[in-house]
Amino acid sequence: MTHRTSEHADRDQEKGAGFETRAIHAGYDPDPTTGAVIPPIFATSTYKQDGVGGLRGGYEYSRSANPTRTALEANLASLEQGERGFAFASGLAAEHTLLQAMCRPGDHVVIPDDAYGGTYRLFAKVEGPWGLEHTTAAVSDVDAVRAAVRPGRTRIVWVETPTNPLLNIGDIEALAAVAHDAGALLVVDNTFASPYLQQPLVLGADVVVHSTTKYCGGHSDVVGGALVVRDLEVAEQVAFHQNSIGAVAGPFDSWLTLRGLRTLGVRMDRHCDNAERVVRFLTEHPAVCQVIYPGLQQHPGHAVASRQMKRYGGIVSFRVTGGEEQAVDTCGRTEVFTLAESLGGIESLIEHPGRMTHASVAGTDLEVPADLIRLSVGIETAEDLLADLDRALG
Ligand SMILES: *Cc1c(COP(=O)(O)O)cnc(C)c1O
Repeated sequence: MTHRTSEHADRDQEKGAGFETRAIHAGYDPDPTTGAVIPPIFATSTYKQDGVGGLRGGYEYSRSANPTRTALEANLASLEQGERGFAFASGLAAEHTLLQAMCRPGDHVVIPDDAYGGTYRLFAKVEGPWGLEHTTAAVSDVDAVRAAVRPGRTRIVWVETPTNPLLNIGDIEALAAVAHDAGALLVVDNTFASPYLQQPLVLGADVVVHSTTKYCGGHSDVVGGALVVRDLEVAEQVAFHQNSIGAVAGPFDSWLTLRGLRTLGVRMDRHCDNAERVVRFLTEHPAVCQVIYPGLQQHPGHAVASRQMKRYGGIVSFRVTGGEEQAVDTCGRTEVFTLAESLGGIESLIEHPGRMTHASVAGTDLEVPADLIRLSVGIETAEDLLADLDRALG
């Protein structure tokens, strides 16, 4: 297989190009035959060989590699400043492939005590029965994570930061030291921050996970996932398992995700601008008793977030004075904010975690307050978002 992808990413990084320049150019040069400035959707399953084994550019079969996916993978590697990127059919497909690549039955992992629900289910119901044990710990508590590690058995320390929906912050540098002291890898799910706001590999993480369904794709029109790894040895293991398991991103999905990444920087800045406006508005609203946002001074993770994030992101959670009933009613009354699960798209979404995304964890350690509302603040006109919330809060 060709190493065109990582060479390409390296070259862009060596040129010292800025984030937005890499988002737009890394991973693809205009097509040599037509000059097409945007990578074509290579809707092909196989490739003509020039004599047996005479592959053109390393392409043999589209599960193994497809040029549209290659362009996306190289772009992601460049944005996260990693050695190599890998694109999958979903975030969970990326996670499963990584765990199969790096772990063996009998191994142990530490995961966040407020992990994304689908991630928790994967560990508890799929990897667990296969033989991978897990312990949960709060990512915001470095000592708790260290205490959960079992030297010699822990293969991965898995972190999300910010977490969902309570936006807890894990100190990536400190957690990398904890993992490495124990001979484990630090894996960071960077879905909520996106590579524009936070680059975990630069802070010492070994692998970055994305649900590209969220900010990377950014338009709520495609489901996808990605891994970006820091070192060649891990890259080879992941590449082998990506091809062997086969949960790859198709060429259409890869194209949409890459199209999304081109504008990640401008979208994230607007998401953050609007989130800050919403936070200021909610903080002063009489029907709101708590606003949770890492950009607030009083947020327990504020200092760490300020160190490791460029800005604080587009997700805002808050609690209402009127309890569960008011929270549920508010979610049903907005008109600009759409009542829906997921996050990270251009359109603003509102949801009630207790009855929606986090309903399955009711009664466990992962249970969230019943009066909690989560917003994925989109990039619409800020005044319209504030007016909508004001109306819905009554
Ligand atoms: C959505 C999400 C996932 C899962 O990704 P899918 O693309 O839905 O499979 C994993 N982690 C986080 C933080 C998410 O928000």
